Amino acid sequence: MLKYAFQCGAIHTNMYLWHLSNQICKRSYSSKIRNIGILAHIDAGKTTTTERMLFYAGKTRALGEVHRGNTVTDYLTQERERGITICSSAVTFSWNDHRINLLDTPGHIDFTMEVEQSLYAVDGVIVVLDGTAGVEAQTVTVWSQADKHKLPRLIFVNKMDRPDADFEKCVSDLKDKLETQPVCLQYPVKDEDGVLAINDVITLERISWQQKDLGRSYENVKLEPSDDLRQLQEKRNELIDKLSGLDDELADVVISTESFDNVDNGLIQRALRRATSQQKVVPVLLGSAYKNVGIQRLMDAVNTYLPAPEERNQIYDCFGTEVAGKVFKIVHDKQRGPLTLVRILRGEIKRGMRLISVRGQAEVVSKLYEPLADEYREVSAVQSGDVVICAGLKSTVTGDLLTSSHSALKNAQKRLKQSLGASALKEDDDELDESNELFAIDPQIPDAVYFCSIEPPSVSSQTAMEQALKQLQREDPSLRVSYDSVTGQTVLGGMGELHMDIIKSRILSEYKIDVDLGPLQIAYKETIDSPSLTTLSVEKEIAGSKQNVSITLELVKNQNELFSLDKSPENLPNLNTLRPRILQVLRKGSISALERGPRVGGQVVETQIRLHSVNIGRGTADSFVMATAAQCVQKLLSMSGTRLLEPIMSLQIVAPSERISGIMADLSRRRALINDVLPKGDRNKMILVNAPLAELSGYSSALRTISSGTASMTMQPCGFSSMNSADESLAELRSQGLE
Ligand code: GDP
Ligand code: MG
Repeated sequence: MLKYAFQCGAIHTNMYLWHLSNQICKRSYSSKIRNIGILAHIDAGKTTTTERMLFYAGKTRALGEVHRGNTVTDYLTQERERGITICSSAVTFSWNDHRINLLDTPGHIDFTMEVEQSLYAVDGVIVVLDGTAGVEAQTVTVWSQADKHKLPRLIFVNKMDRPDADFEKCVSDLKDKLETQPVCLQYPVKDEDGVLAINDVITLERISWQQKDLGRSYENVKLEPSDDLRQLQEKRNELIDKLSGLDDELADVVISTESFDNVDNGLIQRALRRATSQQKVVPVLLGSAYKNVGIQRLMDAVNTYLPAPEERNQIYDCFGTEVAGKVFKIVHDKQRGPLTLVRILRGEIKRGMRLISVRGQAEVVSKLYEPLADEYREVSAVQSGDVVICAGLKSTVTGDLLTSSHSALKNAQKRLKQSLGASALKEDDDELDESNELFAIDPQIPDAVYFCSIEPPSVSSQTAMEQALKQLQREDPSLRVSYDSVTGQTVLGGMGELHMDIIKSRILSEYKIDVDLGPLQIAYKETIDSPSLTTLSVEKEIAGSKQNVSITLELVKNQNELFSLDKSPENLPNLNTLRPRILQVLRKGSISALERGPRVGGQVVETQIRLHSVNIGRGTADSFVMATAAQCVQKLLSMSGTRLLEPIMSLQIVAPSERISGIMADLSRRRALINDVLPKGDRNKMILVNAPLAELSGYSSALRTISSGTASMTMQPCGFSSMNSADESLAELRSQGLE
């Protein structure tokens, strides 16, 4: 019998050597780096799995408390802590001579923007499943996000210690609900006491973990001839068969040896790595984070099957040796101020270096740190492929692309255009999209769908609160802050209740201001129904000087420009005499009136203000002109009336075919628009549907009830849409808090 024992001592030695080499303060060897995210449905075991990885990698000395109890609060606390401590946003550890940068990716819909940003920074992800639940609602969401970023994945089926865990069901869920090609690298085995061990398909070994030392050591034992071995051999053959259909190198060997038994393990792994990278298959591993089973093999699999940075993001080649870095997160540190987390895609970032963001700001990196669990280790330079924390960047915003200089940026753009020009012949739309995204001056920020007022505890802390909000907005551009001049309140716009809640608790913990939030309301927008034109003349005496403005404005439906001049022959002479400064004042005043529509105070959109003529009396102050322009727009809006636009969510619901009619019946009561119903796997169907946000409060639990827990769904905001007048009236009542 062959026996190998793995002890953690070796790992500690590795770590020590790695730290020694790191004292030279330069990091490179990008083929040995893995930037990964870990995604899961709430409660699948993301926290526990991460904690175990850090423990076995020697980053933490003791296993953290595993919290139980109310899952929502568990999630809330966890989310509240996120961003406050840097360790939960990015953490680095070494494993078998590789460096793994694990980036936190919040799973909640309220943080879509953040997840998006961190997915730009990773090269692969681990998706954790709860072995007793299979593919759940949020699993579908994170899966489609990973799809969008074309990320290779590993599956970790967790909680396999539990008697009700069902590995086979998880695998069939993966096929049916996610339409993937799962390849099982392991199968669970339990002894008579129910203790979990793992049969390894490639090595034909049984792996069992020692509980005495919290699973630090484990044993690999070759299976003796038995039914178990025969079954496992069959699985191994199936694996080779499947992979040889996808990988030529493996296929050649199989054909020439005419047998599966002689296929070398290394060869299988290499074929699997290629197929995983190309997202043709998804390797499935299993274990129990809580019972310390399987985690080391999961980390091995990260190194073996997930791609190194240099194998991805070829689009950034256009930067050559210049710096290209993606800002995926900004956190606020009490001592160090704002810290910017950057994934370096090309080149090298050094301490003291000047960087510019694509939006044009130049800033100096005062210090560089690497993200270790609970400390900041200063480094002098970090190279392409790695993740680094930069101090000193004060105007950088999450989502920015950083590079060394304006000329570096111009050259990169030129080179990219050339290479795309060549490939445009191949009609590669995907690549064009990517390039647009790459150089996008404004990262795509989702529209706020909810808003609420925010109030400081006293007037004296108003300024401090505004400062705090400004900083928080840099970290999270999906947070909108505005000032309502009618009510005199500061208003927050965002993605949901949890989003606002976290903002509130962060202002308290990081800025020591105990703000009050008003009730959460749906962010309706307003638009005009038909064009209207009016003249407003105002005359007043202010402090002895006469103020006099007469202005004619028109509102028309238009998506593009907010403000234009009516250059018809009768107006042109008047407009031609206007000073550019006055034009700016008029523009600013009238546009400001679009911030708040007359009906529910929603932003007025798809509406253009057209200036026909204006006459301003001598000595009239600019502020008076501005106010009159705003007043004139308000008059027009109330004259013509507005229609409401409501936020719409797009949902993808996957459920067994026999549940579909019940789900559809409920959706029809929610003013939903069914776009499509598609078959998904053998037994499931997928409903693609748009529904108003107003009708979706508590929908995920309603869906759970209707489908007896068999349905899963993903939901994201997808724009605004007009409503009928009955629904409009309801919305008005709702916005006055009367419903
Ligand atoms: P997260 O929401 O995905 O971060 O999940 P957590 O790691 O917080 O785990 C949620 C709950 O599941 C906690 O009560 C954990 O103790 C429990 N849990 C996590 N992993 C396992 C496991 O492997 N087996 C069992 N039985 N429970 C687990
Ligand atoms: Mg958790």
